[in-house]
Amino acid sequence: MTDPAAGPPLALPGGRTLGAHLPMAGGMVRAVDRIADVGGGALQVFTDNPASWRRRAEPPAEQPAFRARLAERGVGPVAIHAPYLVNLAGPEEELYARSVELLASEVAVAPGFDARFVNVHIGSHRGAGRESGIARLAEGIDLALSRVPRHPAAPVVALEDSAGGGFAVGVTVEDLADIAEALEVRGLGPDRVAFCLDTAHLWGAGYALDDPDGVDDLLARVESLLGPGRIAMVRTPHSRVSPITSRRRGWTRAGTP
Ligand SMILES: [Zn+2]
Repeated sequence: MTDPAAGPPLALPGGRTLGAHLPMAGGMVRAVDRIADVGGGALQVFTDNPASWRRRAEPPAEQPAFRARLAERGVGPVAIHAPYLVNLAGPEEELYARSVELLASEVAVAPGFDARFVNVHIGSHRGAGRESGIARLAEGIDLALSRVPRHPAAPVVALEDSAGGGFAVGVTVEDLADIAEALEVRGLGPDRVAFCLDTAHLWGAGYALDDPDGVDDLLARVESLLGPGRIAMVRTPHSRVSPITSRRRGWTRAGTP
């Protein structure tokens, strides 16, 4: 149902759009209506089961109606969240190959969902070291993107920062800057690969987001180390991790990682 009282999406500074990650289980068109009815503009979805390597063979039957409703309700951009299994930063060859394949699949199906972004976790070096993890990641994204014919509406891959803990790669803004550099060397600029900042991950990594000065400091680092145009998305789930620098991910049910 469309709420006739719903107005245009909430206006944010700089043309930014506010949205939510919604399930498609209740219907893809319904997801568009839900976000539009609350004044949101952006929508993030999973294309399939986020905990599975298997992808559906054909696009969902409701996909044309989904795209039509996006246009009708003025909802966009759409982002796809890649499955959690993807790890492009690790040393295990089989897992790496499957991760490349799965990311390539998400990039390939994105235009069908009118998705401008494919959001993927940066991953873990699994003990192989930070430099190895960054190099593997840049190569893996390059491999995945080169496997998909360049569609005119090809999505930007948005790499999501990690909270740290274990062997996580991409925890600090400095890490993201090194990743951006490794991508640039491969000719992958902001038009192909950008970043998604997750505030719960930043908090878990020790950024003092409860303090205005801490936020200013973070933004200044992003500006000076990453430059303009590299942050495509900011995710703001609730964090249930209380002490900062805990380096753990912590989620309430309100957020998806
Ligand atoms: Zn995520």
